[in-house]
Amino acid sequence: MLPGKTLETFDFAAVPMLSKAHVSAITAGDSWVGKGSNILLFGPPGVGKSHLGSAIGLALVEKGYRVLFSRTTDLVQKLVFESAIAKLDKFHLLVLDDITYVTKDQAETSVLFELISARYERRSMLITANQPFGEWNTIFPDPAMTLAAVDRLVQHATIFEMNVESYRRRAAEQAKGPGRPAQRATPANIQAD
Ligand code: ADP
Ligand code: MG
Repeated sequence: MLPGKTLETFDFAAVPMLSKAHVSAITAGDSWVGKGSNILLFGPPGVGKSHLGSAIGLALVEKGYRVLFSRTTDLVQKLVFESAIAKLDKFHLLVLDDITYVTKDQAETSVLFELISARYERRSMLITANQPFGEWNTIFPDPAMTLAAVDRLVQHATIFEMNVESYRRRAAEQAKGPGRPAQRATPANIQAD
């Protein structure tokens, strides 16, 4: 899990389409983790997908679940060298961060597909992605494989679309102070930023 990225430090007001009550219900776990369901977090970079994924993972660990958090690429690269997909069964939940950053490498994508198939309807995954399903063809070698993977993931899934402005960028803008109102920005002073 990522240090310091907890539900307590997550500002729900920044993501109005995300219900705090719904997320709290999810951290109870039993309604989905125990049943092999998945959570999918979508949104552009910097909106808090990794933070929330980690926070949910941590909350479930505190409930006694076994959770592994990993950047998808790191885990998949490891799985290419040691066939350990079955060993991952010991984790009730795998948090696969940034699935769309997996490179279109034959060995890596087939291992990712195997992993998704192996856990299907048995063990849960929480996946974060910068890109919507329509662009997942950049992950898998062919559209049929993308469709098969997406099908398995979404059949029992809760999907959160976090379509807000980057929290990082907003925080940086606020740190600059009150500044100039946006409507007064001109090409000249935009350049000066
Ligand atoms: P993403 O994974 O969507 O690219 P991150 O989770 O890495 O975004 O968030 C970027 C940074 O902004 C992190 O430091 C994270 O803790 C912080 N952050 C993002 N959203 C929120 C939020 N709603 N409340 C508190 N911190 C946030
Ligand atoms: Mg992230």
